[in-house]
Amino acid sequence: MATTATFIGHGSPMNTLEKNKWTSAWRDLGVTIGKPRAILAISAHWYINATAVTSMERPKVIHDFYGFPQELFNFDYPAPGNPDLARQVAEIAKPDVVSLDDTTWGIDHGTWSVLAHMFPNADVPIVQLAIDASRPIEYHIDLGAKLAQLLDDDVLILGSGNVVHNLRQVQWSAEDRGFKWAWEFDGDVASTVENRPEDIKAMHEHESYRLAVPTPDHFLPLAYVAGVASEKGLRFEKVIEGCTLGSLSMTTYKLTK
Ligand code: ZN
Repeated sequence: MATTATFIGHGSPMNTLEKNKWTSAWRDLGVTIGKPRAILAISAHWYINATAVTSMERPKVIHDFYGFPQELFNFDYPAPGNPDLARQVAEIAKPDVVSLDDTTWGIDHGTWSVLAHMFPNADVPIVQLAIDASRPIEYHIDLGAKLAQLLDDDVLILGSGNVVHNLRQVQWSAEDRGFKWAWEFDGDVASTVENRPEDIKAMHEHESYRLAVPTPDHFLPLAYVAGVASEKGLRFEKVIEGCTLGSLSMTTYKLTK
């Protein structure tokens, strides 16, 4: 049974194919949470100027990157969609408008790179929610709070991004190490969400915010999970923490009672 939400630091798409400490944490998380009725995924990689949900029966698997091995482009995650859940999300969000997308998008690697480990059989129906880039962080926290009721309906809410995500600063030789500013920002976000989740709306005042969050796409999935936590009175619990390639944080959370 789901009745929880999780934020996963997904990092490189190569994690889909690799077995490392991050992916084994995701696998264990899938076992701990158990198979939900459906998943509502908020991925950093569907960042557009609207709020939308995928509403097709069979969402396509989108390989939204380049420069990676063919094996990754061949990777398939044929999970079904759930048009009823998509309509339910649109209903819950009112008066905010959530449009139903049954043609354009599908499941992108923010979602399938982690679900490949959490639910390797691809047998849980998935609906993806787009992140509206034109909205302030408060909108995303509030929408997360509205969507929190889905937990009672055995829907897992999955935010997939990275708390710290600066591709320009990536240092390939850093392996699983992080710059000092990356660790500091990641740690300060952790103490914020562990104490008062809704306070992440003020993280833009942090001295390392511009370095850690040069664009908000990978940070905002956390705002949805923070909204769920404050609405439901759930606590943020770290599943695994750490940085990789200098300027990415892989810290992953799940909500607990
Ligand atoms: Zn990403």
